[in-house]
Amino acid sequence: MSEIQLLPKVRQYLQRDHGHFIDGQYRSGSGDKRIPVVNPANGEVIAQVNGATASEVEEACLSSRRAFSGEWAQTSPYQRGLILNRLADLIEANGEELAQLETQCSGKHIQLSRMFEVGQSAMFLRYYAGWATKISGETMTPSFPSMAGEQYTAMTRREPVGVVAGIVPWNFSVMISIWKLGAALATGCTLILKPSEFTPITLLRLAELAIEAGLPAGVLNVVNGTGEVGAQLIEHPKVAKVSFTGSVPTGLKVGQSAMAANLTRVTLELGGKNAAALLPDADIDAAVAGLIQTGYVHQGQVCASPERIYVHRSQLDETLAKFAAAVKGMSIGSPLDESVQFGPLANKPQFDKVSQFLAAARHDNQVICGGNPLAGSGFYVEPTVLLANGPQDRFLYEETFGPILCVVPYDEVDELPALINDSPFGLTASIWTNDLSRALRLIPQIEAGTVYVNMHTFLDPSVPFGGIKASGMGREFGSAFIDDYTELKSVLIRY
Ligand code: NAD
Repeated sequence: MSEIQLLPKVRQYLQRDHGHFIDGQYRSGSGDKRIPVVNPANGEVIAQVNGATASEVEEACLSSRRAFSGEWAQTSPYQRGLILNRLADLIEANGEELAQLETQCSGKHIQLSRMFEVGQSAMFLRYYAGWATKISGETMTPSFPSMAGEQYTAMTRREPVGVVAGIVPWNFSVMISIWKLGAALATGCTLILKPSEFTPITLLRLAELAIEAGLPAGVLNVVNGTGEVGAQLIEHPKVAKVSFTGSVPTGLKVGQSAMAANLTRVTLELGGKNAAALLPDADIDAAVAGLIQTGYVHQGQVCASPERIYVHRSQLDETLAKFAAAVKGMSIGSPLDESVQFGPLANKPQFDKVSQFLAAARHDNQVICGGNPLAGSGFYVEPTVLLANGPQDRFLYEETFGPILCVVPYDEVDELPALINDSPFGLTASIWTNDLSRALRLIPQIEAGTVYVNMHTFLDPSVPFGGIKASGMGREFGSAFIDDYTELKSVLIRY
């Protein structure tokens, strides 16, 4: 097993004095708050970033607003699409650099960084680029009575909401930012990104590429810092909309602050405790393989991943044995080693949180496989499968956001909707079966933004994605994003 070589430009980039990207300029930052960027594979500090001061936040908001009503408003939808397509090309052309940077900051396996942070980002961007020329309103004929031969017509216009603050988490820092960037820029909005303090530097490189792609200064600004900087953005009067992705507790605060600020528009993509149900006819080998793949991708740090697995009691032993055999063969190691299957957790707080969950599991649950943190300087834990300790087990209700699959037996298929819906969350769920009629009867009864059949976690730009209940409000992708990034203006004309 050996690690890939870091590109010389990645080493050079890490050495920079990182801060923000405001009004077309890379800034080292004027504040005295230095945030260390830690490589979770070995615990070493690999870079420093400056937290934004209040005046840098102010500058970013003013710059974004200027660009919104200035040069960006003069840029035709076709040109906006061209720029987004050029940025997609540049992301691919600089893909290895971006992938290596993101793997260094987040512990994401290098192949996943290449596939998602680079490949999927380019693909989603091109999807949004296509929408730029296809956003339209409707025409209506009002039924007002005509007193003296006058007539009436009416239309609706979809107008960009304004400056959007995109506040993003650390798990897929580039790809999630691209979802917000594509949606904001295709509709004619401008965007201020606030990266997670754990993964702050790749997005500064993305902003440089956006300028190279022809984006006018101020259309994309990046301000770094902790939640405090996010809170300042939400309260700023020039910010018209907040697009937040992160945890439920932070999302609740973000939603409340946005409403209190100025009835600022807000969309929230939050956490999940996603269920997978194996019906009695399921192909157990295929289901176990699919759930291992999607439950442990990026060490389970994926909002849509399955965490609770419902298995018919008659098949419990067979299913657990298959999980144990599959997990046993997984190789754990450096995310820069292409042959490794499972890397570190993304940061120390996340490692501490998952380690506490594992300690509780070793105490309260039957651990089928895994269950331990690994000694050393990196933030590694074992991929874990547990058996639920009764219907009130915390592993059926609390999001671990880690590689912990909790298996629970059920007796009747009819019980499944109530079991699955007994959760504060409603992001994704999956049904594993070859009985399509049964699946189609279950789908309307399941409280989740997305229901998969014989798959889990996959996202496609053409299919809307978002949560119900505590998993959030609003939708990304498809045509659904247009409602969230535009205001509907009605125009009535007498002639
Ligand atoms: P987090 O809520 O801790 O932080 C998310 C972002 O919010 C960070 O940039 C952070 O600095 C910022 N922030 C923190 N406090 C803030 C405040 N008071 N005001 C404004 N901004 C603030 O989440 P995280 O730990 O970075 O990410 C993990 C969580 O994200 C998990 O719960 C996961 O399920 C969720 N997530 C959801 C989706 C989705 O699409 N539904 C996708 C990825 C991750």
